Amino acid sequence: MSTPTASCDGPPVYSPPMSIRPIVTLGDPRLRRHGERVRTFDKTLHRLLDDMIDTMRDAPGVGIAAHQVGVVLQVCVIEVEGHVHELINPRLVSRSGEETDLEGCLSVPGFYAYRARAERAVIEAQDRHGRKTRLVGSGLLARAMQHEYDHLQGELYLDALGPEADLIPAARLREADEAAAASTAAAGDPEALAAVE
Ligand code: ZN
Repeated sequence: MSTPTASCDGPPVYSPPMSIRPIVTLGDPRLRRHGERVRTFDKTLHRLLDDMIDTMRDAPGVGIAAHQVGVVLQVCVIEVEGHVHELINPRLVSRSGEETDLEGCLSVPGFYAYRARAERAVIEAQDRHGRKTRLVGSGLLARAMQHEYDHLQGELYLDALGPEADLIPAARLREADEAAAASTAAAGDPEALAAVE
C-alpha cells in the first residue's frame, strides 16, 4: 500500500545489500489470483520476505503483497511507524469501526482514492519460521493490513470503489499540499503579515 505522505527524502541510513524486485502493475493477471498457502518455511521464503521489504522501502510504500512481485503466495509485509510485520497465511479474524482516508497501491502507481476501511483489524498468521502470530492494528496499520490481505485474495483497493469514484492523481495532491503549506506559512509568520500591511 502507498500513502500520499510516504517519502524517500531524509538522511542516508545504513542499508545492507538490497534486492529490489520489479513491481507488477494493474492489468497483470497475477494480481487477480488467490494466493497459494505457504507450506515450507525455508530460505526461499526468507529471501522473498527480505526482497519484499527492500522493494516496499524503495518504492516507497507501507506494505506489499507477494503478488505484487509476481509470486502468488499468501505472504505480505507491512511497515508502519518503524515496525515491520511479516504475515504468512494470514486470516483476517476481526474488523470493527469505520474510517475513510486516502489510499493508494504500488500496483496502481500515481493515483489515490478515498476508501472506507474498518478502523481496527486483527489478523492471525504465521511468521517466517511458521510460528503462530497475531497482529492487532488501528488507523493506518489496520488500513494496510486490510489492503494487503485483499491482495492475497486477488482483490485490489479499487474494486470496492463505486463507478463514480474519483481517482486522484498524485500530482494534484502535491499541488494542494504545497498551496496549504504556503498559506499556513504566510498566516503563521508575523513578519510576513507585517510586510503585507
Ligand atoms: Zn496494493
